[in-house]
Amino acid sequence: MSHNLVWHSHPVDQQVRAEQKSQRPMVIWFTGLSASGKSTIAGALEQILTRQGYHTYLLDGDNVRHGLCRDLGFADADRQENIRRVGEVAKLMADAGLIVLAAFISPFRADRRLVREILPEGQFVEVFVDTPLAVCRARDPKGLYARAERGEIRQFTGIDSPYETPERPEVRISAGDLSVAEAVNQLLAYLHEVDALRAGYQPVAHEA
Ligand code: ADP
Repeated sequence: MSHNLVWHSHPVDQQVRAEQKSQRPMVIWFTGLSASGKSTIAGALEQILTRQGYHTYLLDGDNVRHGLCRDLGFADADRQENIRRVGEVAKLMADAGLIVLAAFISPFRADRRLVREILPEGQFVEVFVDTPLAVCRARDPKGLYARAERGEIRQFTGIDSPYETPERPEVRISAGDLSVAEAVNQLLAYLHEVDALRAGYQPVAHEA
């Protein structure tokens, strides 16, 4: 497939772009059940990071399925290809110097590991949004669990398709017990601890 291709190195690389933006590029990867809070927490974190002057991009599972991955369904092979594509896009965006927030159910360990492995060391932060299935079902903001239970949607994660819990995520958020603001502050504290935020960072009081 790609055996006649040679990688071309360009003078402007990730380091140059990161220095220009005064930030550490990375992919903050949110995984968890549908309705666990991945998009909500990622969106709230992104809002704070952009207010503090960081350059970010939120890649959202539902949104990429309207375009880049519109040809894919929810069979295991399609889920695998979905995550592979999104992982490559996230890698390009991190290479462009951005802090990428990726919100994908990404139920399979092997697929998440693949994304971790294509990124430079230390640039993949796995965030397990650990909300009990019963809480996700009760929230059901889009009515998807109800439809899956009636058999109207097949291969729905947590109902008739598995979710493989992360074994060593960088961050585990008990999002069933925390407010969105508390979840965001847990993430900001982690990013601060690994020195991913500029000096002078302040946790932000945040109404939610
Ligand atoms: P996902 O992206 O994981 O499918 P969403 O973020 O789309 O989940 O939906 C989660 C729903 O749960 C939203 O309606 C959100 O307002 C609600 N919610 C309630 N409490 C929380 C919390 N602590 N963290 C995240 N979302 C919460």
